[in-house]
Amino acid sequence: MKRVRRAAKALAAPARTAPDASHALLRAKLARLGIHRDFDLVLHLPLRYEDETRIVPIREVPPGSPVQVEGTVLDSKIVFRPRRQLVVRIGDGSGEITLRFFNFYPSQQKALAPGARLRAFGEVRTGMLGGEMTHPRFHVLHGEEPLPVALTPIYPTTAGLSQGALRRMIGEALGRTGLDETLPEATREPLGLEGFSAAVTALHRPAPDADERSLASRTHPSWRRIKFDELLAQQLSMRKHYRERKAKRARQLAPAGALVRAMLDHLPFRLTRAQIRVWSEIGADLAQAHPMHRLLQGDVGSGKTVVAALACLRAVENGVQAAVMAPTEILAEQHYRKFRDWLSPLGIALTWLTGGQPRKQREAALDAIASGATQIAVGTHALFQEQVQFRSLALAIVDEQHRFGVEQRLALRSKGEAGSKGEGRSKGEGRPKSGGGARTEEPHLLMMSATPIPRTLSMSYYADLDLSVIDEPPPGRRPVMTKLVADSRRQEVVRRIREACRAGHQAYWVCPLIEESDALQLKTALETHAALTSEFPDLRVGLVHGRMSSEEKAGVMSAFAAGAVHLLVATTVIEVGVDIPNAALMVIEHAERFGLAQLHQLRGRVGRGAAESVCILLYQNPLGEAARRRLRVVYESADGFEIARQDLLARGPGEYLGSRQSGAPLLRFADLEQDQDLLAAARQVAERMLRDFPEAAQRHLDRWLGGRSDFLKA
Ligand code: ADP
Ligand code: MG
Repeated sequence: MKRVRRAAKALAAPARTAPDASHALLRAKLARLGIHRDFDLVLHLPLRYEDETRIVPIREVPPGSPVQVEGTVLDSKIVFRPRRQLVVRIGDGSGEITLRFFNFYPSQQKALAPGARLRAFGEVRTGMLGGEMTHPRFHVLHGEEPLPVALTPIYPTTAGLSQGALRRMIGEALGRTGLDETLPEATREPLGLEGFSAAVTALHRPAPDADERSLASRTHPSWRRIKFDELLAQQLSMRKHYRERKAKRARQLAPAGALVRAMLDHLPFRLTRAQIRVWSEIGADLAQAHPMHRLLQGDVGSGKTVVAALACLRAVENGVQAAVMAPTEILAEQHYRKFRDWLSPLGIALTWLTGGQPRKQREAALDAIASGATQIAVGTHALFQEQVQFRSLALAIVDEQHRFGVEQRLALRSKGEAGSKGEGRSKGEGRPKSGGGARTEEPHLLMMSATPIPRTLSMSYYADLDLSVIDEPPPGRRPVMTKLVADSRRQEVVRRIREACRAGHQAYWVCPLIEESDALQLKTALETHAALTSEFPDLRVGLVHGRMSSEEKAGVMSAFAAGAVHLLVATTVIEVGVDIPNAALMVIEHAERFGLAQLHQLRGRVGRGAAESVCILLYQNPLGEAARRRLRVVYESADGFEIARQDLLARGPGEYLGSRQSGAPLLRFADLEQDQDLLAAARQVAERMLRDFPEAAQRHLDRWLGGRSDFLKA
C-alpha cells in the first residue's frame, strides 16, 4: 500500500522525487496503460462494475450472476480429491453455501476458521452440496463494517498492478485533480449535458441504482459527457488550426484566365459538371489572401489530375510557381508526361525532380526551381526536402495524400510554413513582395485523394481542411466487372488474358502482397513474370516492381502506355494513380491478402477507356471469414465511398487513417458511428468557444491534450 501511495506522489510531483526502482517499475506499468499524469488516471474509466453495496440472503441468491453474501464460517477443511482444495461452508440464517479455493495461503485458511464472519463476492453455481462459489473475492469482518455506497469499479489493468492498487491511485487522483467545468454554461445547457465533475465521479463510483446497461454500452449520460469532451478537444484542436490558417497570408492568385482558357480549349474532352464545380471552389480559394488547405476527393478515375493542372496554371498566370508531389516515382513520371502534353503547347516550363534521379539532372532541376526558370515542378516527396528552394512557390499539390498518413499530413502542414520561409529569401534577391508587410506568405495547399473519406471522418480528423468532392465519373465510363475466381481455375484466367491481348487490349497481372519480406515479394514477381512469359510466347510480357531503378520503371511504364507491352506483371507499385486507358483486364493474385481500399485502388487501374473492363480477383482456398467479407464488399460495390465506409467499420479510424505506426488511439472513448450526434454538437460548440470563450477553449485543450500540441500526434 505504502508503495502505491508513494508512487502516486511521484506521479503528482515527478521532479522532486528521487529515482527509485519501485517508482520506476510502477511508472512503467502505468505507462503501459497510457497513464502519464493525474488526468490520465481520472480518465482511466472502468470496464464494468460489481455491486458490493448489497448483501443477498443466501436463500435468495440467483444462480449465475455475481452477488455478495455475508455469513459465518460453519466448517472449514482441506480435501484432496479430486484436487487439493480448501472447502469452507458458511451460513447466514437463511441458508448455507460452500466456498471453494484451489489456491490459498495458510494465512487464509486460518482466517477462515469456524466462527469467522465474512463477506464473499462471486457467482453462485449449483454443485453437489447445493450453492457453491469458486474462488470468491472475500474479506473477513472485524466488527461492524458499513457497506460501500457506490458500485465497485473494475478497471483495465496490466500484469503486476492489482485492482486495489489502481483503485486507490485513481481515488487519490480524483481528489487531487481539479475537475472544474470547462464548458461554458451557455453551451452546455442547451445540449443537456451532465457536469464534468459529476460525470467523472459517476463513472468511477456509480450509485447502486445506476443503469448498468447504459453504463456497459457507454450510452449513459455520464459517458456521453466524457465522449463529448473528447470530441470537443479534437474539434477545438482541428478548428484552431483552421482559424490560424485563415489568419495567415498567402499570395492572392487572381483569375487571369488566358492560359486556363487555352488549356481547356485544347483538352480532348470537356470537364464534367463536378470537375467544373470543384475547380471553381479551388479557384475561389486561390484568389484569397490566406492559404488554401483543401482536400479534393474523387473516386479513382474521376479526373482529379486535370483539375490540378488548372490550379497550377492559375499560379503560372500570376507569375509564381507551383509544385505537384506524387507518392511514387511511377505516378510522378506519369503526371509529368501528362502535364507536358497539356502545358508544353502553351509554352510553360516544367521540371521533374525525384530522389532516384542522376545527380547532374537533379542539380539542373534544383537550379531551375530556385531561379524561377521553371514554373511548375513535378516530382516525388523529394520536392519537399530541405535543399529544394523555390523562387516563388505559391501552390503545392499533393496527390494521393492518403498514402502519406496522418503524421506526414501534419508534417506537411508545417512544411508549408518552412516552404514559405524559403520563398522570397532564395538567392537573396530581396524581391519586394506584394503587400506582404512583415509577415511571410505560405503556399496554398491542395491535397488530392482517391480514398473517399466517410463523412464522420472528414468531420473529425479532417476538420482542419476544406473539402471538395468530384462525385461523378467522366462520361462513357462503364463500371469494371469484378469476378471472384478460385486459384484452382487459373488456367481459365490465362486463356482469358490471351484472348483479350489478341483482341488488342492490354492487361495487368498483380502479384500477391507479401508483407513479411520484400525479397520474397520480388522473387514472386520474377517467377510470375517468367511463368507468364513462357505461357505467352507470342505476347510481350513486361515487369515492374519496387526494386527497379526509376529509369527502368519509367521505361517499362512508357512501353506499356505506348502499347508495346501487352501484359504487365506488377507489384503494388501500380496501386495508385496509374492511368493507361487501353488496359482493360486486371488479374489480382491472392486477392484475399489485400485490404479493401487497396483492391479498390488496384481495380481502378482498369475501366479507364471506353472498352468493357474486367477485374479478376484470384483467391486461394480456404478463405478466412474476414477475407471472404472483404472480397464480397469489393465484388458487390463499385462505389468508393461505400467501400471506404466498410473499410472504416472493419478497421477503425486509427488503422484506416494510417497512423498505425504511432500506436496511439485517435479517439479513446467516442465512436464515430455511434456518436455522430455528439460529433456534430462538438463541432458547433468548438466554433462557438473559439469565438466567444477562447480561455475556456484553451483550458479544455490543456486538460485533454496535456502538453501535446496536436490532437493526432501521440
Ligand atoms: P484520378 O481522379 O483517379 O486521378 P485521372 O485524373 O487520372 O483520375 O483521370 C482518369 C482519366 O480520365 C484520364 O485519362 C483523364 O484524362 C480522363 N478524364 C479526366 N476528365 C475527363 C473528362 N471530363 N472527360 C473525359 N475524360 C476525362
Ligand atoms: Mg490520380
